[in-house]
Amino acid sequence: TVPELRGKVALVTGASSGIGRATALALSDAGLRVAVGARRTDRLSALEESAPGEVMSVPLDVTSYDSVAHGVAQVVERFGRLDGLISNAGVMLNGMILGADIRHWQRMVDTNLLGSMYAVHAALPHIIEAKGHIVQVSSTSGRIASLGSGVYSATKFGVGAFTESLRQEVTTQGVRVTLIEPGFVATELTTHITDANSRRMAAEIADSMRTLQPGDIAEAVLYAMRQPEHVSVNSLLIRPTDQV
Ligand code: NDP
Repeated sequence: TVPELRGKVALVTGASSGIGRATALALSDAGLRVAVGARRTDRLSALEESAPGEVMSVPLDVTSYDSVAHGVAQVVERFGRLDGLISNAGVMLNGMILGADIRHWQRMVDTNLLGSMYAVHAALPHIIEAKGHIVQVSSTSGRIASLGSGVYSATKFGVGAFTESLRQEVTTQGVRVTLIEPGFVATELTTHITDANSRRMAAEIADSMRTLQPGDIAEAVLYAMRQPEHVSVNSLLIRPTDQV
């Protein structure tokens, strides 16, 4: 049976911009009630206004377990259930290892790896109850490491490992788990890089190709969620055609 998405409830973390925002809008368009989590609450309020369906702002910081758990509790209190988690919040603060500001490393591990684990932990009892779906946003950097993105890559390799373990734990309970691995997507992700060389490299990549757009990844999330219940799309690797 093909799952009826209309009326279901999903929480998207990192929904204030880029892939998360586009995914929240696509899920809303598909008839889900969508909770949108991030730190920039002004962006979330704007999303609430512009989405086609019912959207709930959930101010949260994934680096704090209490914050994430409180956010999940708010969603369940309002909607009475949680069918989907799109664990998407992330930061990429690239740079060489030598002389790196280790606070950047801490932020990436806390956000991309631990933050994603926290969201899964807090949401999991509800997702199991609903026989729901967890979508983990990783990256091509979760498969291939490259110069200047060692720590980012380490967090995304970690997300991949955690996701496969999660899948084995919950799949026989009817919970589907999908890992999404995008290549270069045009978002504000690279604008937060403070290392000048890395930021320039990212800008050069963006200028050299037709990059993916956030909506392309939102489509992939919907593809996985729309499959019949006996079909679990375990991973989707999506690169721009122009990206070698
Ligand atoms: P954006 O910078 O546009 O979005 C990142 C989102 O994460 C924002 O909504 C931000 O919200 C949120 N976020 C960051 N830190 C926290 C935090 N501590 N707590 C809660 N939310 C947080 O980038 P993208 O859309 O590109 O990135 C989304 C995901 O996609 C990331 O996991 C990224 O690694 C991954 N990805 C991106 C690719 C790309 O090329 N753009 C390629 C492959 C993967 P706020 O600041 O308001 O909290």
